[in-house]
Amino acid sequence: MITTVQTKTYLNYINGEWVASISNEVEKSLNPADKQAIVGYVQKSTKDDLNLAVEAAKKAKDKWRKLAGSERGEYLYKAAQILEKRIDEIAECATREMGKTFAETKGETARGIAILKYYAGEGMRKVGDVIPSTDSSALMFTTRVPLGVVGVITPWNFPIAIPIWKMAPALVYGNTIVVKPATETAITCAKIMECFEEAGFPAGVVNMVTGPGSVIGQGIADHEDVNGITFTGSNGVGKRIGQAALARGAKYQLEMGGKNPVIVAADADLNLAVEAVITGAFRSTGQKCTATSRVIVAAEVYEEFKQLLVKETKGISIGDGLDSGTWMGPCASESQLNTVLSYIEKGVEEGAALLIGGKRAEEGPQANGFYVEPTIFDNCTSDMTIVQEEIFGPVIALLKADSVEEALQLANSVEYGLSASIFTANIKHLLSFVNDMEAGLIRVNAESAGVELQAPFGGMKNSSSHSREQGEAAKEFFTSIKTVFVK
Ligand code: NAD
Repeated sequence: MITTVQTKTYLNYINGEWVASISNEVEKSLNPADKQAIVGYVQKSTKDDLNLAVEAAKKAKDKWRKLAGSERGEYLYKAAQILEKRIDEIAECATREMGKTFAETKGETARGIAILKYYAGEGMRKVGDVIPSTDSSALMFTTRVPLGVVGVITPWNFPIAIPIWKMAPALVYGNTIVVKPATETAITCAKIMECFEEAGFPAGVVNMVTGPGSVIGQGIADHEDVNGITFTGSNGVGKRIGQAALARGAKYQLEMGGKNPVIVAADADLNLAVEAVITGAFRSTGQKCTATSRVIVAAEVYEEFKQLLVKETKGISIGDGLDSGTWMGPCASESQLNTVLSYIEKGVEEGAALLIGGKRAEEGPQANGFYVEPTIFDNCTSDMTIVQEEIFGPVIALLKADSVEEALQLANSVEYGLSASIFTANIKHLLSFVNDMEAGLIRVNAESAGVELQAPFGGMKNSSSHSREQGEAAKEFFTSIKTVFVK
């Protein structure tokens, strides 16, 4: 049910209390569907605020790590139950802050709940192995210990699932956390914090500080008392965070951009492929790290696929994500819209042929928001900027290939390696794709976007620091192994 959100000012959550920034300054969170609508205000924090949060997390860490994993899991389970009760309100807030449709933000909140429940169970699963010693009278085994204080830096595009898929494993494996959400979606994060507060986490275990990335995000990366940093966002920022963490010996995990290809082989089920390309490229207005942005089609079926794709694209309804008839919402911000429009301009300049879309959508109520039409470029070549760089908007570059080998070569010819799909029923093509595609997520006869919470998630090449999130892989990042020898 859609309700009216009250415009209010949200505070930082530090040491179990809601507190204003020392700066006395706030930042606006705007609704991209209607630029006159202010969703609320969040704190424009300073390094001093961050220091207080890190200090609280540091103070709380020993008591927290000494609890049984199952006790820590109980807190996560309670947070899941509270989030479940507030699912509509929190999903609605996310739609207001970043524009995605309510169906998508509700699905994302449901995912957040499932993640919390999954990691609640992790508190009771094994954390080590017995390794046979060459000394028959000795016992040798591994166990795992938390990192300590973990900094969680998140983007705006999945404002519920991404913070939760970092916070939940960090906490269940015994770390305390300081979360810094993207300013665009900081109110949604504050609401998640309210659920954690109500679940009764001890003071200092969970903290949130909002503010500029260059101050709070960089401050986390540089802070000597932050032992681990988990970051999702753009490449430029991720690399800086990685360098800062490396310089002071902190553990870090970076999940960054993508330029995800879909290969449509000559034998593909074209209707299935079209449907997957439409949802992969245009859902969330193309603002997913795993969004489809390049479609490489076998020459034999290129024209037929193109026509089907354009026909389906014409049926997409653009509008406010809170309207039930909307299939695609606005870009998340004015700067995001401008980035997308400038890439479209670049595509035209470099000789790609615009098949459909290409303009800001500003008919009627859309004039008030940051809308762009779903856009498809034909006749693209590998050297074009729109084929190489992440656009993070609803833009598809179509490329033609004479063989699956050529398609694979094109697919691999970018700096990124996050997600990649192929549509084929040919086992030989499928296996060469699995073996040779340079991507962390390989999808066969399925859209490029889409992850299950119990499986490892992450990229290759410039998409990631090569660590993985989620499932068993999360344990790897959020803990350190100790090898124990007992004689
Ligand atoms: P961003 O890099 O601008 O911001 C991400 C976070 O970093 C925000 O909280 C931001 O405030 C903070 N930040 C900004 N400058 C900083 C600095 N100098 N030091 C430290 N922190 C800083 O990214 P965004 O625009 O919020 O998100 C879009 C990007 O995220 C895209 O590139 C997308 O591909 C990527 N992304 C990746 C994944 C993945 O799992 N691989 C998932 C979602 C989004």
